[in-house]
Amino acid sequence: AAERQTFEQRNPRSAALAALAQQHLLFGVPLHWMTDWGTPFALHVDSASGAEVNDADGHTLTDFCLGDTGAMFGHSPAPVAAALAAQATRGYTTMLATADAGMVGRALSERFGLPLWQFAMSATDANRYTVRWIRAATGRRKILVFNGCYHGTIEDVFVDLVHGQPVQRDSLLGQVHDLTEHTVVIEFNDLAALEAALSKGDIACVLAEPVMTNIGMVLPEPGYWEAAQTLIKQHGAMLVADETHTISTGPGGYSQAFGLKPDALVLGKPVGGGVGCAVYGMSAELAELAVKAKQDAPPGHSGIGTTLTGNMLAMAAMRAALTEVITPAAYAHMLPLAERLANGIRGLIAKHGLPWCVTQVGARTEFQFAPTPPRNGAEAEGILDGELEHLIHLGLLNRGVMITPFHNMMLVCPQTSEADVDRLLAALDEVLTQIVNR
Ligand code: PLP
Repeated sequence: AAERQTFEQRNPRSAALAALAQQHLLFGVPLHWMTDWGTPFALHVDSASGAEVNDADGHTLTDFCLGDTGAMFGHSPAPVAAALAAQATRGYTTMLATADAGMVGRALSERFGLPLWQFAMSATDANRYTVRWIRAATGRRKILVFNGCYHGTIEDVFVDLVHGQPVQRDSLLGQVHDLTEHTVVIEFNDLAALEAALSKGDIACVLAEPVMTNIGMVLPEPGYWEAAQTLIKQHGAMLVADETHTISTGPGGYSQAFGLKPDALVLGKPVGGGVGCAVYGMSAELAELAVKAKQDAPPGHSGIGTTLTGNMLAMAAMRAALTEVITPAAYAHMLPLAERLANGIRGLIAKHGLPWCVTQVGARTEFQFAPTPPRNGAEAEGILDGELEHLIHLGLLNRGVMITPFHNMMLVCPQTSEADVDRLLAALDEVLTQIVNR
């Protein structure tokens, strides 16, 4: 209650802006799930730059949420800002290619090793299109996902494993088809379950994050992906690596760092520095099948792509982001800083005697409410505590620091400094002291 009161007193202009938005926006916020963030009203932002967000009441917040990965390379990174400014008076959408398009494709091919790429407006769309291409290419309808996954609002993935049975999530609104008909769901890190599912011979692709990041982080056990990839190939399925979040690992994502060879790879969020755009890449083999499927299909719309896909602003943003922002030098700054953050939090957990642990994938760090990291979606779900997450988030906001309001997720960006990390650790120390003494 005291933290809620502090928030209300600190943020009168946000309160007024939230009241206006409440009158005109469904649920009063641009994303309806922002109402679940545990603040008394929606915090409004005035501007954001580098590792900082300036809220509507004039506070500067040190930002470790970073747009839930959209701003993983800092807010308004200078090269992207310059590219957007240069394009600003030169047109936004023409249905024609700009010189940037091929340069983006080349940068992606060089970085991720997949030869052919296409564009989308969001990672959701990139996943949707990839699955469509693979269904068309393989002639198989089913896809396999892992319990607790999230790949955006592509409908196919809203399926959970409940008492060993696939069940469509009952939180879904307006869904008219039974999603369990074409989606198989199993637990992560379970090779026997993967083999059993694949052996039926009807799975087009396994759509997966190399590390699960949307139910708290769940890391693959040593050897899991090597064996999983062999099984996937053996049974004629394809692997889609959704690296939207795991690009935190390094310049080539988790796949490059850990030797995964996906048939398709999806990237969104930071790929254009946070501007709305996404990409998906294909192996030569998949691309050949996809082209053949298109050639063999009756003429007409494939159902893949949208008018603003590949718009000129998005292309300029991606070209700048991929060539000047998402660089090895950026990771060389971010990774040791994330290590400092993870070690600092381990120290606080020990100091306060909490039965918690820290997980980290490159620039991405979380603390989880269990002594050891979860192995799969069921275990990860079992340790979630939204109320506690919100309390921590609110306490940190009141102390000028922002982390992601779910899963205690924290990212560092190229502009984050050691002093920023220490500021977060000091604020978290205060918040944990309060929580322990509740
Ligand atoms: N893939 C993963 C792994 C994600 O975490 C998300 C969003 O959080 C998406 C895809 C969808 O991204 P977007 O909401 O930008 O479409």
